[in-house]
Amino acid sequence: VSSWAHVEMGPPDAILGITEAFKRDADPRKMNLGAGAYRTDAGKPYVLSAVRRAEAALLAQGLDKEYQAITGVGAFTRAAAELAYAGAAGDLGRVAVTQTISGTGALRVGGEFLRRFHGGGERTVYVPAPTWGNHAAVFRDCGLKVGQYRYFDAQTNGLALGAMLEDLRALPRGSIVLLHACAHNPTGVDPTAAQWAEIQQAVEAGEHVAFFDMAYQGFASGDADRDAGALRAFVAAGRAPVVLAQSFAKNMGLYGERVGTFSVVGADAQERARIESQLKIIVRPMYSNPPVHGARLAAEVLTNPELRAEWLGEVKGMADRIIAMRAALRARLEDAGSARPWQHITDQIGMFCYTGLTPEQVDRLARDFHVYLTRDGRVSIAGITSGNVQYLAESIHSVTK
Ligand code: PMP
Repeated sequence: VSSWAHVEMGPPDAILGITEAFKRDADPRKMNLGAGAYRTDAGKPYVLSAVRRAEAALLAQGLDKEYQAITGVGAFTRAAAELAYAGAAGDLGRVAVTQTISGTGALRVGGEFLRRFHGGGERTVYVPAPTWGNHAAVFRDCGLKVGQYRYFDAQTNGLALGAMLEDLRALPRGSIVLLHACAHNPTGVDPTAAQWAEIQQAVEAGEHVAFFDMAYQGFASGDADRDAGALRAFVAAGRAPVVLAQSFAKNMGLYGERVGTFSVVGADAQERARIESQLKIIVRPMYSNPPVHGARLAAEVLTNPELRAEWLGEVKGMADRIIAMRAALRARLEDAGSARPWQHITDQIGMFCYTGLTPEQVDRLARDFHVYLTRDGRVSIAGITSGNVQYLAESIHSVTK
């Protein structure tokens, strides 16, 4: 008998399951609105022109494939921190940064760091309800406990600010609060600047650690500075400890290259050096040092002024297409005669829309209309095109009549 006979079949990943069902569907009208990856208006994956040009430039340089530092490609981590914090943390000399395996790896390294060094009594990370499906699993695997604070208001399909503040104020002093910097996944609901100020005050009053997850900088509003506004406000105030997980999967289209950073804002350069030494001790036994290619690409895009300008234009182009598809979907639903309110489609921001569809309605969309999304009613707007938005609106109208 095998040594592994006791290993049970695990549940399939929710998103991958949808992709499988989508692939099996032979109907030409089929739509995959599950996966969170940008698509062009022709429904195709998009490699950014700035990235293509950076790739050509790197190839021409004929670089070697030697190991980089444990903390990764220095030109990349510097430029990435600069993009995230700008001047909010001063000259960045007090920010400890390590390159990570995209945003997921950043959360994992960050979770490890907090488990080892967060001084608060209970090592619990509080995440919004709902949140990205991987958050709880990542933090539990770091040995942290995971709690929730209320975030989404199902009545309005908007922010439950009062409940959120109430929950943040009731947390044990010195908790860890996970905040989506922008383009909240899965709801698409972001606080306004005024709401962020209240959230910041509650986090500071509780002496909580603010753990920002920034997977969509630039992708939400089209403006990378604006999307980092909440993060920078926390850092500039200097009252709450701030750590950051940063991903370039979406805003540079580097999904499979796995490019990200984890950073900790320290008090001064000495503290940064001590924190960085511990980040190395975390990374070394985990994966030794990070992959080089994607980080070099991102560094080239960020530090070459011409490529950077082109990239910022392309990020805005992606954000604008998403915003346009939100407007189109809402307008087509209203034109189709839907009596339900759909304003939340255009109020929400970023890759995802939390439609408010029930699991049964989602099942009907798949079965009768070949439209696939997660059962929580989350639609990846990036999967909508000017060619299929009408069909989608009619389908949603049919199942919500
Ligand atoms: N955080 C959030 C909120 C996300 O939506 C994602 C991507 N789906 C990630 C982190 C990490 O993604 P990646 O590891 O591909 O950077």
